[in-house]
Order: sequence, then structure tokens, then C-alpha cells
Amino acid sequence: MSGGGESVKVAVRVRPFNQREKDRGAKCIIKMTGPTTYIQNPDTPNPKMFGFDYSYWSHDGFEDEDGVLVAKNDKYATQRKVFDNLGQGVLDNAFEGYNCSLFAYGQTGSGKSFSMVGYGKNRGIVPITCDELFQSIDRCSDGTKFEVTFSMLEIYNEQVRDLLTKDNPKGGLNVRQNPKLGLFYVEKLKKVAVGSYNEIERRMEEGTANRTVASTQMNATSSRAHTVVTITFDQITKNEAGQETKKSSSINLVDLAGSERADSTGATGDRLKEGANINKSLSALGNVISALADQSLGKKKVVVPYRDSALTKLLMSALGGNSKTIMIAALSPADINYDETLSTLRYADRAK
Ligand code: ADP
Repeated sequence: MSGGGESVKVAVRVRPFNQREKDRGAKCIIKMTGPTTYIQNPDTPNPKMFGFDYSYWSHDGFEDEDGVLVAKNDKYATQRKVFDNLGQGVLDNAFEGYNCSLFAYGQTGSGKSFSMVGYGKNRGIVPITCDELFQSIDRCSDGTKFEVTFSMLEIYNEQVRDLLTKDNPKGGLNVRQNPKLGLFYVEKLKKVAVGSYNEIERRMEEGTANRTVASTQMNATSSRAHTVVTITFDQITKNEAGQETKKSSSINLVDLAGSERADSTGATGDRLKEGANINKSLSALGNVISALADQSLGKKKVVVPYRDSALTKLLMSALGGNSKTIMIAALSPADINYDETLSTLRYADRAK
């Protein structure tokens, strides 16, 4: 494994209380000390402890006059800090020609979109990473040619929809396997060439507007689909004899559907089926990442079950091998979400 066996990195991030939790007088059940996160069961005396690569706190921030959240002390994790810890490694890896996948996991309303995309001036790790990618390209003066493409899809009920078109076939796009390489790909998925960060930003807005939105009782506008942004990055260099060599990598940024179990959102019928499918991809992803983590610890005979869901099939080339995998698990601080938050911590814990 590359990167000294550190191919899987796991961070957890707790968001501040929301208004609903404040109105209900919710208590904070999360504590963080260095990389260690503690969760307190409201009904028992002893907290449970988990160790991650990073534990990010967010209660001591305030908005400056520009609306950017800044830190009152070093416990607080700004968007920039999260990028410096996690996104920079994704970029470095991409320049070396390796693939990477970055996931945000957690129940609806726990802060996945805040960490990935961000809100307003508080840009998340996806825009910062894309912006920095083009800044690095602009700084490069050794004659390397760069080609960058962007695609965006969602996986909803195990079906794949292209988010860069309004015209998806009923039943979704076909996921096919390349017979030579063994890798899976989405047939007819749009991949657009992009030459600047602004173009990526525009494409991302277009894709976001095409997402499937279904309401649950927890959050009326939450997406119940997994959203996958893929940036392919080719670096073409010429040697003295004029021969070209190409280094290719892909950066996959995945905002996962809410991890809450169907029963906590009052789902029935179609919503329930949807819940089962979401959980199928989430558990398949958990199994793949956990198998990869075991593999990097040198445990023998690990079978990585990529074929168990559409999501893990599509990310096969960007999970394992020399790829870098990063998971940000998003947490609510409130006692009323204890069960979901504990299950998120357990999921993240398996990935280590
Ligand atoms: P999700 O994508 O998991 O459904 P969101 O990212 O939309 O959740 O977060 C829910 C709310 O919490 C949003 O209003 C968001 O701005 C806020 N929030 C989430 N994480 C943070 C954070 N680290 N700091 C400040 N506000 C946050």
C-alpha cells in the first residue's frame, strides 16, 4: 500500500446545535480531546470512546463580518483546517497519479453537505480542492499539459442517473464492466472537459439542481440519493525525444445519502424500499472500506466485496491499491440523536 499504509483516513466532525435541538433543550453528548471522541449515553454513566485520525469540534466558532466561520480557539475546526488535513492529501495524491475517494457519512442534517460543499462563504472541501487543483495547474511552468474532466451522478434505489442531463433513461444508466480491466463504468455518462475552477462551480450547480429530492420527516429537502462528483485529471509530459507520457488519476467526492434507519423517519411503502437500498449501499461501502483497512494492516486473505452495490462497483478503481480513501463522519451533538450518532461512530470506527 502507498502512503505508509495510511490509505484509509477517518475524521469525525460534530456540528453546532441547530434551532430544533436548542428549542427542545437538548444536551451535548459529544466530547473531543485531540483525536479522541467520546459519546455519552444519556441514560448511563460511562461515555464510550473512539479514536480517529481527526476529531473536529465546531462549537467555538463565530461568523466574521464577511460571514466566514472563524475559530475562537484551536479546538474549533474551520473549513480550511479540514481541507489542510484531508483535501491537501487528496490533491497531492492526484498529482502523483493515484486515485482518491472522499466520503461524507452521517444522518440527515448532521453536516455532510456543510463539510463537502459548504454553505455561502463557508466553502467545503469539494470546492476548495477543485480551486486548489487549478491553482496548482496555473503555477506549473514545466510544459506539462493538463486535461481535467468533470462528471456528476447520483445513485438512487441502486439506479444511476447522470446529473449533467435532464434526459435519463427510465431505470437508470447501465453499469458495465470492462472485460479487460475488470473495472465498472457507467455507459453514456456525460464527462465534460473543464478548464477552470469557475467551470466546475457552474457544472456543480447544474448537477445539484438535477438531483432527486424526496422529503422525509427529518429534513424536507434532504436528498435520499448518493451524489458522486468525479474529476479525472490527466498530466501529459513529453520527453526529449518528443514521446508523450500520460499520468491519469481520478478524484471522487461522495456525499452519501442520510444514514438514518427507515424507522426513525416514519417511512412506509416506497420510502421504505428506498431506505433499504440506501442502507444496502452504505453497508456495502462499510464492508469494502473495512476490508481495505484490514488489508493494509497485513491481515491475510481479505476479499474486498466491491460487487455488492452500484456505489462500490463504480468506485472500485478509486478504493484500494494505491488509492487514498477518506471518510468524514458527520455528527449531531444532541442527546436526542444518541442512537444515530452512536451508529455513525461505529460505522466510522470499522473503517479504521
Ligand atoms: P446534511 O448534509 O448531513 O443533511 P447539512 O450539511 O445540511 O447536513 O447541515 C445541517 C445544518 O447544520 C446546516 O444548516 C449547516 O450549515 C449546519 N452545519 C453543519 N455542520 C456545521 C459546522 N461544522 N459548522 C457550522 N454549521 C454547520
